[in-house]
This record gives sequence, C-alpha cells and structure tokens, in this order.
Amino acid sequence: MKIINSISEMQQISQAARRAGERIVLVPTMGFLHEGHASLMREGRRRGELLVTSIFVNPTQFGAGDDFDCYPRDLERDCALAAAAGVDLIFAPTAGEMYPVGYQTWVDVEKISLPLCGASRPGHFRGVTTVVTKLFNAVLPHLALFGRKDFQQLAVIRRMTADLNLPVEIVGMPIVREADGLAMSSRNAYLSVEERRSALCLSRALNDARQRYRQGTRAVTELLAGVLAIIGAEPKGVIDYAECRDAETLEEVTTAGDDTLLALAVRIGTTRLIDNCLLGEEN
Ligand code: AMP
Repeated sequence: MKIINSISEMQQISQAARRAGERIVLVPTMGFLHEGHASLMREGRRRGELLVTSIFVNPTQFGAGDDFDCYPRDLERDCALAAAAGVDLIFAPTAGEMYPVGYQTWVDVEKISLPLCGASRPGHFRGVTTVVTKLFNAVLPHLALFGRKDFQQLAVIRRMTADLNLPVEIVGMPIVREADGLAMSSRNAYLSVEERRSALCLSRALNDARQRYRQGTRAVTELLAGVLAIIGAEPKGVIDYAECRDAETLEEVTTAGDDTLLALAVRIGTTRLIDNCLLGEEN
C-alpha cells in the first residue's frame, strides 16, 4: 500500500486510473482509525477499483480552544488497519501542502452549516467543506463515503456537492458502535475509565428517546426532556446541544416523525462527543 504526500502526485495517479477506466473511491479521515473507518473502507473496496483513504488532521476545521494539537495520531497503526480493510493508497498531505503560504480561498455552505455543531464550533464546517473540496480535487474520486456518525457533516457535504455540481457520488454509512453502544470515535481515546462509563449516557439517551417515540410520544419537548434527564443524571456529562431537527433540511421540528434527527453533543470531562439517531430507525 502506497503513501502519497504530494497533491500533484496524487492527481497523476488518479488521472492514470481514470484513463484506465478505474472507478476511484475516497474515504476521507483524520486518522487514528477504528472499526467505524474500516466499515467505510470495506464498503469502498466493494464499490471501486482504486480505493484511496486520506489521512489529514485538518487544522482549518478546529477552533481556537479545540483539540487540534493533541488530536491522536498514529500513522503506522493506521496503515496496518487501512491495508487490512483493502485500501490501495493512503493520501496523507502535510498542512503546508494543503494550505501553502498565501492560501485564501474557502468553501462555505450557508444555512445547513449554522445549527448544531455549526453553532457550537463556529467556522468548523467552512474548514470541513474547504478541505473536502480540496481532497476531491486531489484524489478525483467518482465516489466518496462518509459516516452518519457525523450526520450534519454528511448533510453539509451532500449540499455542497449538489450546489457546486461536483461530479462525486456521496454515500452515507451507518454508525459503528462498541458492544455497549458507545459510538466509535478517535476521540474516545481521550476518555478515562470512569469517563468511558459516563459516555454511555449518549447512546442510552438516544435509545430511550427512540423507545418513547415507538411508544407514541411525538412532542419534541417531551422527548428532549427525557434526554436531558438521562444526561443530566450523569455527573460528568455536560450537554452542548440536544436537538430534534428535520433530517433533510436540519430545520427545527416540534412534532417528531420517523425522519426526525435527534442529535447530541455532550462534554464528558474535557472530551466533546457527538452521537445521533433517526427516531424512526430500528437499531
Ligand atoms: P474522522 O476521522 O473522525 O474525521 O472520520 C472520518 C469518517 O469516518 C467520517 O466520514 C466519519 O463520519 C466516519 N466515522 C467516524 N466514526 C464513525 C463511526 N463510529 N461509524 C461510522 N462512521 C464513522
């Protein structure tokens, strides 16, 4: 498995693959890979001939107080996991390669970037959409896979791809969880043993809301009250947001339906975790 650091070399490889009639699949990541990433890669392997994973901890999507400096990194381990999942090539540019001196161009998706993580992390999605556009231009994929763990990110990228007529098919993939329900995340590595236990309040709150939805509760205030009670009972949990929104537009809803997104961001100690579900989904 090759590791490419240069954008122009990546473009040359992709152009050659396209000339040879190969379908190029991209799985963009920030590294410190886990089974959630591997599930995207395995699906990508099925869907194309050249499977590229990018590993880039993108500085422009982190805010001032965020964890850019301490974000976990382990390229050697990532390479082993990616190779086992069938990846052909890792694209791992440096920050200087992606944002050279004089850089000043941004991709900004307006409305759908504003609520939820956009409200608690101003500028975050501008960094995401800019880097994803640049990764698309470097890797020239026919198809790119993203996890529904970052539900808003997927929605923002779908919007951007449609609005800018980018010739890339966007595929959303299910959330991969630990056996006890915790959504897999590179940031779970920050959690102490005690915090790891507390972190289960996110999936517990989502499951509880879905169960009450199944039993007939439709008032969003009522569903959210249950979420607040479960997370509020956790001394280490501080809610950043807990909201119900339309899964397509991310606009607020007051009456829940099958396609209502319940999205959570919760701080467990100093670690900010996100998770979500659609109220009508089975499991
Ligand atoms: P990240 O490295 O955290 O930027 O994630 C890279 C990609 O993997 C994104 O599309 C994420 O949504 C996806 N991803 C991260 N965690 C999970 C998970 N637990 N299940 C499914 N996809 C995930």
